[in-house]
Amino acid sequence: MPPLSSRLNLGKLILGLALLSAVVTLANTLHASYRVQREQLIGNTLEANRVYAGKLAETTQNFILSAQQQLAYSATTLGRRAHDRDELAAEAARLQLQTNSFNSVLVVDAAGTVLATSPQSLALQGVVLNSQGNAEALERREPYISNPYRSATGRLLVAISHPIFNTQGAYQGYVSGTIYLRQRSILQTLLGKHHYRDGSYLYVVDRNGRILYHIDPQRIGQFALENPVVQAVSQGHSGAQQVRNSRGVPMLAGYAPVPSVGWGVVAQRPTAATLAPLSRLMSAVIWNAIPLGVLSLLVTWWFARRISLPLWQLARNVQNRDTGIAIGHVAGIRAWYYEVAHLKQALLYSFNLLQDRIGKLNRASMTDPLTGLQNRRGLQQGLEDWQARGQPFGIVALDIDRFKAINDRFGHAVGDAVILRIAQLMRDDSRDTDLLCRNGGEEFLILLPGIDTATAAQIAERLRRQVAAEHFDEVGAVTISLGVAHYPSYHEDPLQALRLADKALYMAKEQGRNRTVVYPAAGHSSAG
Ligand code: GH3
Ligand code: MG
Ligand code: MG
Repeated sequence: MPPLSSRLNLGKLILGLALLSAVVTLANTLHASYRVQREQLIGNTLEANRVYAGKLAETTQNFILSAQQQLAYSATTLGRRAHDRDELAAEAARLQLQTNSFNSVLVVDAAGTVLATSPQSLALQGVVLNSQGNAEALERREPYISNPYRSATGRLLVAISHPIFNTQGAYQGYVSGTIYLRQRSILQTLLGKHHYRDGSYLYVVDRNGRILYHIDPQRIGQFALENPVVQAVSQGHSGAQQVRNSRGVPMLAGYAPVPSVGWGVVAQRPTAATLAPLSRLMSAVIWNAIPLGVLSLLVTWWFARRISLPLWQLARNVQNRDTGIAIGHVAGIRAWYYEVAHLKQALLYSFNLLQDRIGKLNRASMTDPLTGLQNRRGLQQGLEDWQARGQPFGIVALDIDRFKAINDRFGHAVGDAVILRIAQLMRDDSRDTDLLCRNGGEEFLILLPGIDTATAAQIAERLRRQVAAEHFDEVGAVTISLGVAHYPSYHEDPLQALRLADKALYMAKEQGRNRTVVYPAAGHSSAG
């Protein structure tokens, strides 16, 4: 077994337990609230981006419709004046400058030859176009919005065109407004230069998943169909979801289609930017939890000490060798809770039992079994106490006269009865503080604290007369002889003082028995 001192104590155990449960509770709370908040933030951002993408898609849709109306109106005007080159140029300029919808306006005849442009600096007049946009416009002869393509001037653009018919209904060609994808255009005006510091941005794709608008000009014209959001929006769906962008950054994207053109608008925000306030929130929660946490630990520590202290005190006192002192200590322990109160009670009970037993054994070891008077050991103990206290005392030594003869005539049992009766007479005549001792056989000692020689002599004499006057069963009359001395009058050693009383007793026997002799006045005696 490891030594006791190296073990955990109850106080530390309670404190440790409290600390553990506090940490677990805090961690659990943090974890739960982190998850809830995270879900909420992500949900809110997705919803906000979905709504925002929807708004922008609606704006874009409205623009396209109004652009088509403008082109339709121009087409009607141009159909009436197709013969006049100057008027064509004037109408192209009006359309481009007045509406501010297009980067350029072209009027093209049925053979694909450019009749007029605005701005004129394009220098395309008389040029026969061979772009994909041109071919499709000529072929379809209806309002048409092209896919992005590279124009005759080398720009990436989208063209919105409207056919021109003359007043007889003959096809004359088309008028087309272009939107440059890589230069400043109406798209930027509509969608805003939308790039926030937290990394939010939006982009627009066409029905093939090709990027028409993006804050990063490099990405314009690229296909992004591997992105699930682009797939969804180019199929005409709206919604919101978590995706990784082309650089692998997790994003919260909302998307909405522009139905009239099959385009889609995607608004997105980095997940990290959305969750940034969350870690601040969590650390704020921790910091706010600390003061109360520390306080509750202090309270726990205080209680742990109060709980363990009485147990510790009880345990320590069990080891006390002196049962009397231990009882005093244990009785003084504050047993403020049930178990300790029980333990204290049990301990006191067994201590008292122990002390009782020890007391009985002690008394038994110091008393004479026949008479109940002190034996030599008891005498010894009493003498030591008195000597230590400097207690003076009178001494009476007594011996039954001719006891041998009593024994011989009436038997040992009758002798015992005589001894017992004399002991009773001694006891009846004594104070509680007197020390009565059977010194062996039929000899006794009476020690009288605070009694001088003369008084001791009177007491001895009174006892002698009482015994002499007593009728003993079967035996009849019995006498005793007594010797009186005093401590410390004649000797400073109490044992020597006792021997002086013995000496006087011997003299009493010498002088004829049934008398008291007082030391040193050995001559003083009285006979019955
Ligand atoms: P004396 O007057 O000189 O004292 O004569 P005595 O016969 O009493 O002589 P002594 O004191 O020497 O006698 C002691 C006798 O007491 C010896 C023994 O038989 C007897 N005795 C000692 N102890 C006991 C006891 O416990 N019970 C009984 N019945 N007799 C005892
Ligand atoms: Mg004797
Ligand atoms: Mg005798």
